[in-house]
Amino acid sequence: MSFQDKTIQCSDCGTDFSFTAGEQEFYQARGYTNEPKRCPSCRQVRKTERNGNGGNGYRLPRQMFPAVCAECGKETEVPFEPTNGRPVYCSDCYSKVRVSR
Ligand SMILES: [Zn+2]
Ligand SMILES: [Zn+2]
Repeated sequence: MSFQDKTIQCSDCGTDFSFTAGEQEFYQARGYTNEPKRCPSCRQVRKTERNGNGGNGYRLPRQMFPAVCAECGKETEVPFEPTNGRPVYCSDCYSKVRVSR
């Protein structure tokens, strides 16, 4: 049985892409019965999104906010914006507070 290149329309961006004979062979060897629905670039995007570590500047580093620990008064940084009336703890106190609760 021989394979032939096939043109498929991407379900994400609508671009025609080729599902080559080599890829079809690969799919069959892996036991995949479905044809790809997305073009290689959309597939790449989905893969990157799923892994969450694209490393291409898509993700911003976690912003840290300065805060004062409600337990020991030490200056610290927290990954969320401290809101009024809500106690913020440094990492040491945070683990203590969490355990005692
Ligand atoms: Zn696409
Ligand atoms: Zn503290």
